[in-house]
Amino acid sequence: MRLTVEQKWQATLRWLRRNFPLPSPVDVRSIEMKDHGEASYDSGRKLFSIRINKKKSLSSRIDTVIHEWAHALSWFGSESEIEDHSSEFGIVWAKIYRNWLEWDYGRAKKKIFIPLRNQTEFDF
Ligand SMILES: [Zn+2]
Repeated sequence: MRLTVEQKWQATLRWLRRNFPLPSPVDVRSIEMKDHGEASYDSGRKLFSIRINKKKSLSSRIDTVIHEWAHALSWFGSESEIEDHSSEFGIVWAKIYRNWLEWDYGRAKKKIFIPLRNQTEFDF
């Protein structure tokens, strides 16, 4: 199945929420902005906010949302207090990015089991 740009974007957001849940709710919005994106945390409302530049290409927006998601996920790391791109950020970023590449919108890269022709049911 061929996915549209919007479907790939929405699938990536769902995948992030499901596989890398944040310690607080997150509000993700695509807006017009100067930078590629930003992440912030409202400690009063206990709410993460991620803003993505909607004028950028899909691959750029995905790179950015993974980057900003890694900021949110490492927000309370000890080194994150003093350094924006802390070691915790780097590890989390790499973990998300590697998994995202493997995921490939749910399309398996390798077929582990190749069914026989017309075989639709499996015992495993
Ligand atoms: Zn950053």
